[in-house]
Amino acid sequence: LLKSSTRMTDAHERSFIMVKPDGVQRGLVGEIIKRFEQRGFKLVAMKMVTPQRALLEQHYEEHKGKKFFDPLLSYIGSGPVVAMVWEGLNVVSVGRKMLGATDPAKSEPGTIRGDYAIVTGRNIAHGSDSDKSAKREIDLWFRADELANWTNFSSKRRRVSL
Ligand code: UDP
Repeated sequence: LLKSSTRMTDAHERSFIMVKPDGVQRGLVGEIIKRFEQRGFKLVAMKMVTPQRALLEQHYEEHKGKKFFDPLLSYIGSGPVVAMVWEGLNVVSVGRKMLGATDPAKSEPGTIRGDYAIVTGRNIAHGSDSDKSAKREIDLWFRADELANWTNFSSKRRRVSL
């Protein structure tokens, strides 16, 4: 019983994915969206925003006190980012694999960072690192009414007359 309910919720797992300012400036928004769409994930929310410092302090709270914290906040707060929520089976762990290692020098070619970045301080995109962080980050960045509830037309069982 537990197993089947776990499977049910897994298909609706969600991750917070953000194209950072360098990704936006380098014209990689479409490329990143394309990869998530083509992998089979479902886009449930997206917006372009220049995040306020208070939001970023919460988003990166686990790094407070580290030496890269202030530069990181200035960098992410410097320009618009594209914040998104993607949904699908294992989207958190698969999304992290698609992004590649935090340090692009260690990211495999074929990953987003492995294909487009060379330094940790400009690593193109963010992805939640656990289900718990995903929930926290989605709550932080999006209101409930900004999350779209939709079903692919072709997967609906209905009579069509076109
Ligand atoms: N970061 C940095 N210098 C570091 C470590 C991290 O600038 O030495 C930045 C980088 O943008 C990274 C973010 O801080 O993506 C968050 O770090 P984390 O270790 O959580 O990596 P992520 O989850 O983003 O892969």
